[in-house]
Amino acid sequence: MALKLLCLAGDGIGPEIMVATQKVVAAAAACHGLDLQFEDREIGFAALEAQHSTIPESVIEAARAADGVVLGPVSHNAYPPREAGGLNPSGVLRKELDLFANIRPATSVAGLPTPTGAPVDLVIFRENLEGFYADRNLHSGPGEFMPVPGVAMAMRLVTRHASERIGRAAFANAEREGRKRVTAVHKANVLRTSDGLFLEVIREIAADHPDIAYDEVLVDAATALLVRDPSRFDVIVTTNMFGDILSDLATELAGGLGLAASLNLGPHHAAAQAQHGSAPDIAGQDKANPTSLIGSAAMLMAQLGCPPVALSIQTALTEALSRPATRTADIGGPLGTTAFTDSVIDLLRETDE
Ligand code: ATP
Repeated sequence: MALKLLCLAGDGIGPEIMVATQKVVAAAAACHGLDLQFEDREIGFAALEAQHSTIPESVIEAARAADGVVLGPVSHNAYPPREAGGLNPSGVLRKELDLFANIRPATSVAGLPTPTGAPVDLVIFRENLEGFYADRNLHSGPGEFMPVPGVAMAMRLVTRHASERIGRAAFANAEREGRKRVTAVHKANVLRTSDGLFLEVIREIAADHPDIAYDEVLVDAATALLVRDPSRFDVIVTTNMFGDILSDLATELAGGLGLAASLNLGPHHAAAQAQHGSAPDIAGQDKANPTSLIGSAAMLMAQLGCPPVALSIQTALTEALSRPATRTADIGGPLGTTAFTDSVIDLLRETDE
């Protein structure tokens, strides 16, 4: 089997964690005899300087042509306006590749302390193209506007089509992974029409899956319940912004943002992407924890039909994180990015021998 991954390092700590990810994924691929190629392209500030756009059209074409994409973090809040080429590469790729699902697991590691002491093992299915990020949807215009000075409005888009796709993906995952419960998180007591439609569709899908328990929790109650008893949740399915916020909470509760992997998934394409941002405060200092991007790449390998490669990566990562001597500084360990990466590769080769 041969695969080509398009690697877009991005801004801030992006280049460091991309190098780490490529080293680990290449080592795992070699252990399993997989012919794996990486194609590196610039996005973010590097592309803006050279090509006047933070995500040039040629990069989008390369993403379409590749088997999968590994997307580094981007500092899009610091970009110049759209007219000057400052597009959010993550939003553009999600839209152009129809990556409708953002799958965000939050899983604690045995031996690595969590903030509340409770273990966490859940996965969030976040709708990725609509909600308050409606400008990502091909059929809509700008998601925010100012009808008169001093009055700003944001559009929240919820469609039956998108709700059905994310709902079906969540239930299919529960079935495949042997998870027992799907919880729809919403605010339908206030957003009666939009979240009302979302719930109506998810209930229909739940009715097709009688073996999986289904319930609904208001988003405010969900934040409290996540802190009080994370084992209350198994699979969460929710709209775009609620998923974005809840996943930061869930991954902090599971051990830290530096551990948080995610996969953007569509009918024809997939993109691995760390949940965190570009962390400019620690960029270029060999301090970044590459676990989230490496874990995201493992999710991508599983999605691309290489579960043994994914399992080798995940096992080595978990093993490294479970030992205090092979942790990075953000989770109280002594190692920098490079030394941590080398430890993960050593563990990977030991396990696969
Ligand atoms: P951006 O502007 O790109 O959103 P940010 O710094 O505002 O960047 P994050 O990148 O999510 O937001 O970082 C939040 C905090 O978590 C920062 O202090 C950052 O250093 C830390 N952090 C994020 N990712 C990592 C990582 N992989 N390893 C170590 N620390 C991290």
